[in-house]
Parts: sequence; structure tokens; C-alpha cells
Amino acid sequence: MLFQKFTTNTGIRTEHHKNTSGCETVKMGVPKKVLIPLQQHIGAQCEPLVQKGDKVKAGQMIGDSKARVSVPIHSSVSGTVVSVAPVLYPGGFYVNAVGIETDGMQEVHEDVKPPVFSDKAGFIKALRSSGLVGLGGAGFPTHIKLSPPEDCNIDTLLINGAECEPYLTADTREMLENTNAIFEGISIVRKMLNIKNVIIGIEKNKPEAIKKMKETAAAFDNVRVSELKTSYPQGAEKTLIYSLTKRIVPSGKLPMDVNCIVMNVNSVSFVSEYAKTGMPLIKKRVTVDGSAVKNPQNVEVLIGTSLADLFEFCGGFKSEPRKILMGGPMMGISQYSLESTILKHTNGILAFDEKDSVLKPESACIKCGRCARACPMNLQPMNINLMVNKGRFEELDKYHICDCIECGNCSYVCPAKRYLVQSIRLGKAELHKCEIEAVK
Ligand code: SF4
Ligand code: SF4
Repeated sequence: MLFQKFTTNTGIRTEHHKNTSGCETVKMGVPKKVLIPLQQHIGAQCEPLVQKGDKVKAGQMIGDSKARVSVPIHSSVSGTVVSVAPVLYPGGFYVNAVGIETDGMQEVHEDVKPPVFSDKAGFIKALRSSGLVGLGGAGFPTHIKLSPPEDCNIDTLLINGAECEPYLTADTREMLENTNAIFEGISIVRKMLNIKNVIIGIEKNKPEAIKKMKETAAAFDNVRVSELKTSYPQGAEKTLIYSLTKRIVPSGKLPMDVNCIVMNVNSVSFVSEYAKTGMPLIKKRVTVDGSAVKNPQNVEVLIGTSLADLFEFCGGFKSEPRKILMGGPMMGISQYSLESTILKHTNGILAFDEKDSVLKPESACIKCGRCARACPMNLQPMNINLMVNKGRFEELDKYHICDCIECGNCSYVCPAKRYLVQSIRLGKAELHKCEIEAVK
């Protein structure tokens, strides 16, 4: 069936630029102020639980929602709430955010204690309270991902250590620095969800991580480390599932439909840490790199820290930054301001100078088909681009535009430098508008 078949010749070779993979993570101190958006996940925005003037402590819940798909938000610091107001989110829309002036004490809130759970229901409840979302970049609430319907027989837990985006090395450092925590987290998840097999996928360009993970995995039954071809986007969920199990997730379906659950290495590691300490998700390892950054490194940073403070911690800029990305160069979102803040699922912040930021002008499509061959979802980006440019948004469904994972491969390989992924994003938004209009 067209659009449902993955092939091994999809995916592309990119330059790796894994400059920071050998650098141990450095811990950044408490900034003077944090700004914590009340939505850092796929799903409903949280309602604020604090107001201006309130004193808060580290790990305190400051936002929550009654919606099923949502997770609570916690304060990453102790201090005083100075604002609860809408801010422009790094993704380009407005959300409420809690501004906190820190006191530097990092007093921990009294609710922070190791969770007690002995069955799946208790585990899922604890996970929700932890505020965990997919730390690979997607930001989907983990307690929902780990709650498939009862009749869904999950037989394999896939652990994503592919980290295929250029520059990013935060997952690599997790595998090297917190190997045991990853395996403890895996043990908790498979025990609570009664999952038999575990496969950890790591791209071949991370030999040290592969070695360490394989050595540790040897002590566990039915856990194996699989070396993956270095090819972008190897870490995309459906691509990873195919690479590790040869199972094909059909269009519009989820990993659980092929009896799999996929978790990022950092997510399982957090599960282990949370089980021991009860401290919710308030910090993140972030790769800071790019041609404009003075001291590229991996930084453990409190959520809500501004990009300005983070770059200052990394020695500032060695040249004028012309493009700042939240995420990697293939899927990252351009940032308009250094006041944007680190979110739960931020895994990289990149700053590029003039020569690395130039967006070349588009020329006419020469119908070479490279974009289609490079598409991991077997789409036809050139035809989607054509439909978008003609404004025929209502027809985009026929081209399975919603299967696009916005990996950027098509734009990367296009010799005409067509703005393919940009037009696909626009097309998705316009199609969504058409669908809303149709039900009115
Ligand atoms: S951005 Fe979308 S259309 Fe382009 S290659 Fe990736 S999945 Fe395919
Ligand atoms: S890669 Fe570019 S030039 Fe080639 S078919 Fe696709 S859009 Fe056209």
C-alpha cells in the first residue's frame, strides 16, 4: 500500500557536527529569574495554581489541567512569583507563563518525596505527577503513552538512543554519564507494564555509547542494544520501529498498534531518578552549539532559564548570531528572542553566524524526485508544495500531508532549494482551518 510502506533506502546522510559528544555535562547555577510556560507538552494548557506575590519552592506544582492529555508544570526554583501572564511561546503562539524571581536557596517543596507505587495504575499516576513528557523533543505526555488500551498487547519496549539530528549530543551524554539510571528506568517501565522485550537503538556514529550500553545490557534478560545505520531521521518513531523490529506503523496509527512503545533514553533515566527522589521534571540537559557560540557544551539547566542566560553561561557569542534554533538544524524552531526559555523537551539550542544562516532563494522545481526518495514517510513533497502554492489546501489530505513528520529531509536534498518543509507546515495549518470550517 502506497504511503504505508517504509523502505530502507529512505533517509539521508547529513554532516554530524557532534562536536560536544566528548564533553562532560556542566551544571549551570540558578539564574536570577525563570519564566515557566504553563504548556510544555502536546495537549491542554495548564491553569496557574499560583499568583503574583506567592512564594514558591523547587518542585512545587504551579500549573495543572483537568484535561486527559496534559501534565502538570512545576517550579524549577525557589523564589517569588512576579508575573502570571501570556508570553510568546518558543513555538510562535501565546501561552500563560509564570515568572519567578529566584532566591538562590533552592528550597525543595514538601510534596517532593519518592512516589509509592506497586502496580501499573499507581505508576501511571506517579508519572503524571512527575510532569514527564517525551524528552526526545516531541513533548507528548508519558503517562498517556504508557497507558495503551487493555486489549493492546505491548510486547516490545524500544529505547531511542539514535540521536540522529546533527549537533545534538544530550542523549549521547546521558548514555555515557547515566547508564545505570537508564537501565533502572527500563526495569521499572517493563515491570509495571509487563513488557517482555527491550531493544535499545543507537546510531553507529556513537561507538562509546554503544559499548557502554552493551556492557550494561549484558546483565539483563531480553534486553539488547542494536546498532543502527547512521541515517537521518533514524530516530523518528516510525523509522526507528521499522529499523529495530521491521514492523510497519500504518498511516494514522500509533506504535501501540504494532505492539511497541518507544521511549527516549533521557525519559527512562528520568523515571529512575523520579522513583528515587520524587523530584518532578525541573531540569534538562541541553546541547549548546553552533558557529556563533563561544564555548559549545552540554549544560544541565533549570527549566524556565532564558536563552540569554544560557548563552552567557557558555561564554557568550564569538560572532554575531544570525539564527538561533531551539532543537537541531533539521527540525529545530527558529527563535525570535533570547528571552525564550528552556522547556521540558528542549534538547538543543544552536546559534549560527551569518554564513551558516543564509536561506538560499528558491528556484523552479526540476522534477528530479530527490525529495520523494529522501522522504521517510514515502510522501511526495514536490506535489504537496505545488498544492500549497496554488492554495488548494482542501486537497492536501489526499497527499497524506498529516503523515509528514517535518524532518526536513526534502528541503535538505532539493537542488532547487524549494521551501518544502515550510510549505508543508503552512499546508497543515491551512488544512486544519478548512476542516474546522467544514464542521461549522
Ligand atoms: S519533511 Fe515531511 S515531506 Fe519532507 S521528507 Fe520529512 S516527512 Fe517527508
Ligand atoms: S527535490 Fe526539489 S527540484 Fe527535485 S522534485 Fe523535489 S521539489 Fe522538485
